[in-house]
Amino acid sequence: MVSGYYFDISAFLILICLAYTYFLQHLHKVEENNIVFVALLSVLLAAGLSIAYYMKPFSRSTLTVPFYVSSWALTAVSIALFILYLYMDRAYNIGRWKPVVFVGIPFAADFIFVVLSSFDLHSAFRTAAYCCDVILFIVGINILYVYKKNTSRERALMLWVVLIGMIAATIVEMLYPDVMIQRFAMSLLFAETFFNLKDPEEQFDADTGLISLETFKEEIRRRFYYLKRHGGGVSLVMLAIHSTETFLRLLGEVNELKLRQSVISEITRIADGTPIYRVRQGVYIFLTENDDRAEADRIQSALIDRFESTFGMEAYEMELPFSTCRIDLPEMAPDGVALTDLIHMAVREGRLYEKPVVDARALDLSTEEYMREVDEKVRHAVESGNLEVYYQPIYSLKEKRFVSAEALLRLHDGDKFIPPDTFITVAENNGSIVEIDDFVIQQVCRMIAARNLPELGIRYIELNLSVSDMLQDDISGKLTKFADMYHVHPSQVNLEITETSDDAFTGVVESNVLRLSHLGFNFSLDDFGTGYSSLSRIIMMPFDIIKLDKTIVQAPFEMETDQERRNAMTLLESSADMVKRIGAETVAEGVETKEQLEEMERLGVDFIQGFYFARPMPEGDFINAVRAMNKK
Ligand code: C2E
Ligand code: CA
Ligand code: CA
Repeated sequence: MVSGYYFDISAFLILICLAYTYFLQHLHKVEENNIVFVALLSVLLAAGLSIAYYMKPFSRSTLTVPFYVSSWALTAVSIALFILYLYMDRAYNIGRWKPVVFVGIPFAADFIFVVLSSFDLHSAFRTAAYCCDVILFIVGINILYVYKKNTSRERALMLWVVLIGMIAATIVEMLYPDVMIQRFAMSLLFAETFFNLKDPEEQFDADTGLISLETFKEEIRRRFYYLKRHGGGVSLVMLAIHSTETFLRLLGEVNELKLRQSVISEITRIADGTPIYRVRQGVYIFLTENDDRAEADRIQSALIDRFESTFGMEAYEMELPFSTCRIDLPEMAPDGVALTDLIHMAVREGRLYEKPVVDARALDLSTEEYMREVDEKVRHAVESGNLEVYYQPIYSLKEKRFVSAEALLRLHDGDKFIPPDTFITVAENNGSIVEIDDFVIQQVCRMIAARNLPELGIRYIELNLSVSDMLQDDISGKLTKFADMYHVHPSQVNLEITETSDDAFTGVVESNVLRLSHLGFNFSLDDFGTGYSSLSRIIMMPFDIIKLDKTIVQAPFEMETDQERRNAMTLLESSADMVKRIGAETVAEGVETKEQLEEMERLGVDFIQGFYFARPMPEGDFINAVRAMNKK
């Protein structure tokens, strides 16, 4: 008897701690939390009753039955509530009959058995009541199983632990009625659930008090899950306010705050109870109940009305640039990821073209989808083994043979390639460029060592480095490491870099260039003639080679009018001339025709890289092509 009593005391202490945190955090904002909290409260009340029973000065004999029975009944209530919570949490809009049948019936039976057991506290009725508890927990497990896709793994794991723990505790108490461990276990495990529920900090956005992005994602996942199982639709309205950082800064902090508050209070009024999610700065989603397209329309037109007039504050009256977009699910976006894409595109479209109404059907999801696929592939490019280095031979006009080559990366995608311009940009944005370029550096060093290039007449391989590579402090260490590893001399590697447009970076890039050039690496300036190259810097930096970009090489041959052709030719001529005067060698990129080749010869260009002589090709083909050409 006494052991059970201590268990209940512990359970009761949990209540006190909990009540404290509950009121501290104002958790009542969150409806789901309420259910778990009430479940907890009733189990703890049950524990409290049992404690009271053990305290003197009650006359035990008379009070035994009411105390026991009410505390068991409370326990049953709490279990039923907890399972009900699982239903509400897991399956959005589950309907009525399932909870009634699977929770209501076992609960009613449980309750009846508890009452019946009051005639004889150790009767079979009591065992039957425990069996009902176990059934309820099994219903919980079934909910978890059926809706397993509808929740995160951690959360599911936590709930499995709770339910299995509860079944174990219930069975122990059924077999040894004096060990009143069930309520103790329940209070521990329900408390675990309770604390694992999203706290309001997470659920609500701190700046605006609206519902947060995380919650939006979860809600959307639930809704899609529901749509897949039960059909129907969901309508939402997006509101994007396109005020820029600069605009907000000009406004000043105090005014910005006021402006935001007035916007929030206006849109909350317009929403009229429809939940508003803030998915990122200035972007709000109004998510209507199920299929309420009329409500979505009402919200959208009310928003347009409101935002077409000004927002007033003491000193200012201002219009806010905005866009709205009505999105119907699942027609316009079949899943959560597509929806996120659609929202992004709608915001962008609205901002670019200053549209108050963006038509979601007119947006092309496929580019966004493609870019995301590329992003995914790029992240795993190195480990997936889909990368291959191709080599494009470079021809010397003086020696009439191939003397070098440029390493160009290929990303295989099935039997196609993802173009390097696309995936290199993606890799630069998502940070995998460093790993990818490491791969290229290593491959190139390996190739140089393995293929005995000097014998073939290839003096060096040109290697593209991104600005992000040149920004790394240890880039020179890394390059020397790979060169040493394969016994490659730095002069066998020529590093191609492009000018950066951003002045903030040039310092680091410059010092890396100098360091590497002291170590014996040579440098090419890539894409000369495309834009940012600042002439003064080109003269300052130790470039051995300057590569005329294919756009300026091909321009004189592609222009419509004579005048344009002459201008393009002037640009090309003076670029080639300038490179010569600096004392660097010239590579003309993109030479495709005989006519272009002859023009380059006339201009005194040193090297030719272009389809006219060779395309980029796999290592083996490259070696063969060089062998064939250089034997002649
Ligand atoms: P890039 O450095 O300007 O490379 C030269 C590009 O011109 C290559 O495109 C090459 O295939 C193409 N090209 C060569 N000759 C001709 C020609 O006669 N006609 C035409 N139309 N094109 C020609 P690719 O291979 O598609 O590479 C595109 C860009 O991707 C490269 O431009 C470079 O910036 C980047 N890239 C490629 N490989 C790497 C790499 O390993 N690392 C880094 N960081 N960037 C790379
Ligand atoms: Ca290049
Ligand atoms: Ca280039």
